[in-house]
Amino acid sequence: MTRVIGLTGGIASGKTTVSNILKGLGAIVIDADKIAKNLVAKGGPALDEIEKYFGRAVLFENGELDRKKLGNIVFNDAKLLKKLNEITHPYIIEEITNEINRYKKTYNDRVIILDAALLIEQNLMYLVEEIWLVVTPEEVQLGRLIERDGIDAGKAKKRIDAQMPLEYKKRYAHRIIDNSKDLAYLRAQIQANWDRVTE
Ligand code: ATP
Repeated sequence: MTRVIGLTGGIASGKTTVSNILKGLGAIVIDADKIAKNLVAKGGPALDEIEKYFGRAVLFENGELDRKKLGNIVFNDAKLLKKLNEITHPYIIEEITNEINRYKKTYNDRVIILDAALLIEQNLMYLVEEIWLVVTPEEVQLGRLIERDGIDAGKAKKRIDAQMPLEYKKRYAHRIIDNSKDLAYLRAQIQANWDRVTE
């Protein structure tokens, strides 16, 4: 049986929706985004290093990270973005590995899902046994993003365009989850894949 599955896909492709279906089937879900956020939270292990490198100016008065400020700095400078990733990456890997091992030990018969939007961008593929990529045609993705986040089409398009191309991600996917239609269509695919990995 496959134990650890990486779930990835573009913005608003349906990863959270798929995670929730999988939870309903009995999977344990590790949320990589939540882990990354905790690492840079006040008292989090990566925050000290970020302060040392980027300066006190990227923190608020109360010591919390000013994500917007740091974001503006790194997204305008590829070298600084690389540096930030170098700081956070080892912590992310360590924490995800710890969680996977902890769940493996505690629940020896449960499937573990690593829900990670940046699984491929951050080279986390080796942490999982199989990769599921959630895909949607761009116009569907755009519509869902506009609706969910209440943003205009221009902004939504920009966010989609800033991402790694889907065609590149497909090279790493063992299974493609087609989320172009309704939820019943999505659920049926998840169920079929679930049956395959748990049999
Ligand atoms: P992000 O990476 O931005 O957090 P995500 O990949 O987790 O997004 P979801 O939040 O699961 O994506 O889905 C995006 C939006 O599309 C949500 O509002 C969700 O309810 C809706 N959605 C997802 N799948 C379907 C579907 N098959 N039919 C209709 N709406 C859907």
